[in-house]
Amino acid sequence: MERTPEAVWEACLEIIRDNVNRRSYKTWFEPIKPVSLSEEGDQIKLTVELPSRFYYEWLEEHYYSLLRKTITKVLGPKGRLFYKIVIEKEDPESGFEGTSVNMPAHPPETTPPPPRRPSLSPPPTTSSSSGTPVDLTEQAPSVPANPFAIPGIIRKIQVDSQLDPRYTFERFIEGDCNRLARSAALAIAQQPGTTSFNPFLVYGGVGLGKTHLIQAIGNYARQHRTAETIRYVSSEQFTNEFVQAIQHNRINEFSTFYRHIDLLIIDDIQFFGGKEKTQEVFFHIFNALHQANKQIVLSADRPPKDIPGIEERLMSRFQWGLMADVQPPDLETRIAILRRKAEDEGIALDDDVVEFIAQHVKSNFRELEGALLRLVAHAAYHRRDIDLELAREALRDLIKESRVTLTIEQIQQLVCEYFGIAPDLVRSKTRKREIVQARQVAMYFCKQFTQHSLKSIGLHFGGRDHSTVIHACQSVENLMETDPRFREIIEALRHKISLHSR
Ligand code: ADP
Ligand code: MG
Repeated sequence: MERTPEAVWEACLEIIRDNVNRRSYKTWFEPIKPVSLSEEGDQIKLTVELPSRFYYEWLEEHYYSLLRKTITKVLGPKGRLFYKIVIEKEDPESGFEGTSVNMPAHPPETTPPPPRRPSLSPPPTTSSSSGTPVDLTEQAPSVPANPFAIPGIIRKIQVDSQLDPRYTFERFIEGDCNRLARSAALAIAQQPGTTSFNPFLVYGGVGLGKTHLIQAIGNYARQHRTAETIRYVSSEQFTNEFVQAIQHNRINEFSTFYRHIDLLIIDDIQFFGGKEKTQEVFFHIFNALHQANKQIVLSADRPPKDIPGIEERLMSRFQWGLMADVQPPDLETRIAILRRKAEDEGIALDDDVVEFIAQHVKSNFRELEGALLRLVAHAAYHRRDIDLELAREALRDLIKESRVTLTIEQIQQLVCEYFGIAPDLVRSKTRKREIVQARQVAMYFCKQFTQHSLKSIGLHFGGRDHSTVIHACQSVENLMETDPRFREIIEALRHKISLHSR
């Protein structure tokens, strides 16, 4: 049967049309042109032309499995899809001039792919002016261990951005604590390399959103195509890759790889401290990128001047751009973030629960997320709805830490104020009914809100012994179970005391 590339691709498009929405279809598939169809060995190759390598990356990332299934359906199990990418610009480094380069798609295999991309063997080159097919089998022995060991133009196409798509500006909550860093980051994402924020360095303690923010720059740049080649690495990964490059005599490849990046994002550069060789190679990469107006984005857990073992010349480079800090979130931001995270996870949270968590978990975003997860897990485990009581239970140990500032005397004061009696009465020998009850309630809260032992609490109540305190706690709990009115009183008091324990 005589098949043309056009007919085969049209048959593919028919399947694709049924599987993606109209907009995606128009954006990603309509611009693709069928080029050739050939049989080689046991493969039937359909080659299509893509407008840019961005298309290639996008298709591979989002439509790989759809394309694989479609090709198999139309061409049978021997079917393979190859991409040809139009090179728009002259690339002085590669010696290429406006023609095209061929890229095979991922191999349509059903078994898990081997650790490197085996089908990167050369597709038929017809229009490429380089004319030299590139056999990567020798030179890419262990992607990802040596992801930079890829020669020529294909290396550019190959850069794995390593970005986590969840870290976006949309999901990043802005507050006073991170406003400057966020707006600088957004400006950079819109015009990488061309603002005066180059390099851009975000610093601050753990869990304050540094990784999220610097990755948001990358994700934005990728989505809006403001930078083509993007790479996010931790400083540890960068160091490891460098060490491997030394071991395998590939330092040049390593450097060349990184010099090709348009937007280089390195996380947690405090790990560069004391690593002289890594700093040196980074210094040269930095200079090359900066000179070529490529954007460099960095993060550190403290201001660079406080990182031991960072070379002076590198430090002076950091001064060229902008350093912005991120601070622990204020109450408002904590509330906003909890609301957003709950919404994202589809969890309904009452305002009092949100405020309760926000009041007690203050250190950073990660702990806020952790608290929320713990709450959800607790609710699921006990099959209960999420309310204030459950939150208090689930987060008890987190909250204890912030209670230590409250003294027994302060609790006595608050409780007595509530019951309208003089505080020294709870410390006296009086056995009047309402005093006894106030005393028991105060003991119960001392147990809950302080770290004092039963014995110590007893001593603060006119030298009573620990069994009296146990009895008091028990009585309060029993009465709460049987008397809803009493329970309300206790909850109101608890709220009052917790406000003072911040
Ligand atoms: P860091 O790198 O500073 O240690 P991360 O970026 O890893 O902190 O943040 C920890 C967690 O908190 C991540 O899940 C991140 O998405 C979230 N997070 C941090 N800051 C914000 C923010 N401003 N808005 C939304 N989520 C945030
Ligand atoms: Mg981080």
